[in-house]
Parts: sequence; C-alpha cells; structure tokens
Amino acid sequence: MILTRQDLLDIKSEYDEIRFKNRQLLDERREEVYKKIPGAEELEVGSKLDYIDMIRERVLKGKAAEKKESGLAKSKELKRLLTENGYPENYLEPVFDCPLCKDTGDVDGVRCSCYNKKLTDRLYRQSNLGNVFRMESFDNFNLDYYSSQKWKDMELTPRENAERALRLAEDFVDSFDSEKIVKGMLIYGETGRGKSFLSNCIAGRLLERGHSVLYLSANELFNDVVGAYLIEKEEDAGALYELVQKTELLIIDDLGTEMTNSLVNSQLFEIINSRARAGKPVLISTNCSWESFSKRYQERIVSRIIADYTVLLMYGDDVRYIKRREQLNK
Ligand SMILES: [Zn+2]
Repeated sequence: MILTRQDLLDIKSEYDEIRFKNRQLLDERREEVYKKIPGAEELEVGSKLDYIDMIRERVLKGKAAEKKESGLAKSKELKRLLTENGYPENYLEPVFDCPLCKDTGDVDGVRCSCYNKKLTDRLYRQSNLGNVFRMESFDNFNLDYYSSQKWKDMELTPRENAERALRLAEDFVDSFDSEKIVKGMLIYGETGRGKSFLSNCIAGRLLERGHSVLYLSANELFNDVVGAYLIEKEEDAGALYELVQKTELLIIDDLGTEMTNSLVNSQLFEIINSRARAGKPVLISTNCSWESFSKRYQERIVSRIIADYTVLLMYGDDVRYIKRREQLNK
C-alpha cells in the first residue's frame, strides 16, 4: 500500500481537529462580542430560541410564521449591531475551513475535493514528490543538456525538439485554465532524456495553480491501487481508486515497468476511456519505444492515443550522464 489505513485515520482526525479549532474560534468570538456589544447575547440566543420554537410550532401547526418573523428580526438586528461595531455581519456564524463539506470531508456520501487534496498531499509528502516538483520545474529545465547537432535521422536537433516539448508542455498546463478540452499526453523515449523531469514540471505548475494532480508510477497504479482494490478487495485502497477517476490530471509514470497482463491492459483502457468521457486527461510517460509500446498494449489503447493524445518523443544524450560528467569536472 502507498497509503496505509493509518493515513486514512490520520486524515479523519485532521478533520476532527479542524472542527474543534473552528468551534473554539467561534466561542472566542462570542465571548468577545457579548462583552463589547450590550444586547448581542440576548439577540443571538433569542433568535435561536425562536428558531427552535418555529420548528416545534410547525410540527404542532401553531404560530410558526410568527416565530419565524421574530427570529429573523432578532438576527437582522444582531447583524446590524455587529457591522455597526466594525465586525463582519457573519462574525458569529459557524466557521468552516471548507464550507462545501463543513469540514467533514464528505458531501452527500461523496468525498469532498478537500479530502482528495489531503490524500494527495499525504502521498506527495511520503514519496517526497512535493520536493521533487519544486526542484524539477519549468524554471529549472536546462535546454543546454540537449545538443544542437543533428541527431540520427531526426528532423529536429535534440535541442529544438526539447524546446518544442517544453512549449507543448506549457500549453498543456495552460489549457487547464481555458475552455478547451485538454488532450492527453504521451511522453516517450529512452531513460535520462528528461521525460520524468517534464512530467514533474507539469505536475508542479498545475498544483501551484490549484489543480488536482495524482502522480503514480505504473507499478503503484496497477499494484497498490487498482490491484489492491479490485483484486485484493482492500477497502483502504478505495479512496485512491476513486481519485484515479476524479483527479483533474492523472500522471502514470514509467508505463511499461509494471507486469503487463490482461488486467493491466483492460484497466488501462478503462481508465483512459472513462477519463476521456469525463473530459479529464491522462499524462503517460514510458521508456518503451513506439514499437514495443504498440506490442505491449491493446490496439484500442494504442489507437486512442494516436487519435487523441499529444505525443512527444524525447531524444538526445543521456542527461543524467552529462550531469554526472559535469559534477566530476567541477
Ligand atoms: Zn471539503
């Protein structure tokens, strides 16, 4: 498991703490206002009592409307007093970090976006990905690692190709904030040509802009999430399994390093397909050559990628080798 049962319990107690903190904050505000504005306490308590009476009267078919009027009048007067004394009018209303789910992590039985954010934050902390995203960013992408000499029979030099890839990667990120449908992206090429670096640039910038990104290696996705949930029936994997569908961008790193079998093939198609239907892209990086990729995965996967994805081939010298040589020469 990438996230354990303990992680899920920890998230649950995070919510308990948030609710406790906010209740305390409200208590402090009350005490402060009651002290400062005479009559505020009576108005607040009175409007609540009227509300309770209203509910009771409604059940007993009595003077519900009257109670409602009187309760509303009191809370209106309270708001007036608050603003007159320099407070916002909702100063004594319950405080929530996330008004959507009222800090429960759950909206009508569906996990709230704030829950999913806590889940991915935890994942990134554990895998140290948060730091990686900061270091491997668009600002730190060094084009000097790519040669300006002709490369084999490719039309673009490695540097021109990397410049193009960088531009397309930035467009990919920008399209999340436009009306356009974001197409998926496949980055392929041999190890050390900057594929993961580029994926990290994309993930980091999207997270910076407040989008949700789930970054998993193919192994984690198929063993620890899909396999754990569908085959091992581990309930704890359910939250991440759900996130695979829901996150704005799903990144599958190093596709082809997993044990590719029929389950992987059918699940990969299912994920790509259902996310495409929901207008949500997948970013795949792989060391496979195009030939071995098309052999390894079902034709329907390959043809969807050809039809709908931006495909980038990264080539040139092994960047890691150049970096090591530079370090030795220092
Ligand atoms: Zn929420």
